[in-house]
Amino acid sequence: MIICKSAQELAYMREAGRIVAGALAAIAGAVQPGVTTAELDGIAEEYILSQGAKPAFKGLYGFPAAICASVNEQVVHGIPGLKKLATGDIISIDIGAEINGYFGDSAQTFAVGDIAPELLKLIEVTREALTRGIMAAHAGNRLSDISHAVQSYVEEHGFSVVRDYVGHGIGTKMHEDPQVPNFGRPGRGPRLKPGMTLAIEPMVNLGAYQVHTLADNWTVVTDDGKPSAHFEHTIAITDGEPLIMTRI
Ligand code: MG
Ligand code: MG
Repeated sequence: MIICKSAQELAYMREAGRIVAGALAAIAGAVQPGVTTAELDGIAEEYILSQGAKPAFKGLYGFPAAICASVNEQVVHGIPGLKKLATGDIISIDIGAEINGYFGDSAQTFAVGDIAPELLKLIEVTREALTRGIMAAHAGNRLSDISHAVQSYVEEHGFSVVRDYVGHGIGTKMHEDPQVPNFGRPGRGPRLKPGMTLAIEPMVNLGAYQVHTLADNWTVVTDDGKPSAHFEHTIAITDGEPLIMTRI
């Protein structure tokens, strides 16, 4: 069941979203060659706690950290650790926070120092694919209009969208109905209504879309070993433009 949120609930989600955005901004300032993903995790957790919120990923389905840190061919769900970032890497950081019982969820891919032009393009296309998905998130549209907007933009630029992981409804839980795939034909699925809150999150591969999970049971990597990028915002459907909650 898809729940439409009240104005009060949207205000709580906006607060959670602001905190997630603040944590991502803190990480953006710390991503550089030589930093470990565990250090980035510490920065995010400290920031979220300082705002009176909880790092929502920690313990979710047993995940051990406040952020997912996915480097290069890692797509999502990378576990922070002692490996140092190097010039030329890209790193996707996914963060969730909970406050007053409401959740925010956002992700961004960062360049570590100078990166190859094709990686810059991968990051920019993924960022723009999220924008295209958000632009399709209008009351009266159907859910798969979001999916189609993301997929068509990505494929126009020669990249592929991951099928096995999707966006989702969000509110009093991190993952609510409906699922929000990044692929599919337009005009399908539930009609979008004001008060629906969704996490839209294109995961875009430089090569083929197929992925698998490593032996740690968390880290998702591309089958072909080529890099992947990930951008995500939590948004609310309104009577007008979608409201992006995970912005400062
Ligand atoms: Mg996320
Ligand atoms: Mg999400």
